[in-house]
Amino acid sequence: MGEKRRDDQTVGQGVKKGRRQYEIDIFRAWCKSCGICAAFCPVQCIEMDEEGNPQVVASEKCTGCGWCETHCPDFAISVRPRKENQLEAV
Ligand code: SF4
Ligand code: SF4
Repeated sequence: MGEKRRDDQTVGQGVKKGRRQYEIDIFRAWCKSCGICAAFCPVQCIEMDEEGNPQVVASEKCTGCGWCETHCPDFAISVRPRKENQLEAV
């Protein structure tokens, strides 16, 4: 009695529900596989595969910073917010 539970502390420590998701598209025809996007993505969304081509491995981590898009020398990558109805697809 007299103890007040601090349930409010658990709020907000789980999944970030409202976080915006991004779609990363690599245009293979324009990409020369230089690896810049994979090397410098700050959250490792992109990796080079065994054949030396970039592939999106963790689009859910993308912050939408746009670094890859603006630094790709061949304009071969685009990042844009996902529409709400695309969020359930994995
Ligand atoms: S930076 Fe551009 S050209 Fe280089 S690997 Fe990434 S998508 Fe391809
Ligand atoms: S927009 Fe930023 S976080 Fe997203 S894939 Fe490109 S470099 Fe990585």
